[in-house]
Amino acid sequence: MVRIARERIADLFTLAERESARADGGYADRYVTLARKVGTRYNIRFPTEYRELYCRGCSTYWVEGRTVRTRLRRTGRVRTCLRCGRKRRLPLQSRSVGPQLAEPAPSIGERDDEALVGEVVDEPEPPSASDRAEDE
Ligand SMILES: [Zn+2]
Repeated sequence: MVRIARERIADLFTLAERESARADGGYADRYVTLARKVGTRYNIRFPTEYRELYCRGCSTYWVEGRTVRTRLRRTGRVRTCLRCGRKRRLPLQSRSVGPQLAEPAPSIGERDDEALVGEVVDEPEPPSASDRAEDE
């Protein structure tokens, strides 16, 4: 049963990704909600690559620039849901950072996501004044 549930979750995220390509977002959020329900029902933790795809606050499927905003900080990446304002902080993987800091900054391409994924910390803090000031 658990194996079937996992396949179902994978299918739903595939569908969500396809729907998110539509201008109106389609049923992407709906599929995320369903996938989360399946996960809850069978007590399955989503693989890391899925957990970065949606908002834990409102189950919105995250599309960069449309439903989520990503900012780089010294502490890591901060992703803000543009629908409910919930923030997730994703620490950059701490490689041995010596005093020389010769390592070039990682580019912010989609393909770099896997390399950047660290422990995910939910931060339900409300938007602060300083955060608003950084909006373009
Ligand atoms: Zn949200």
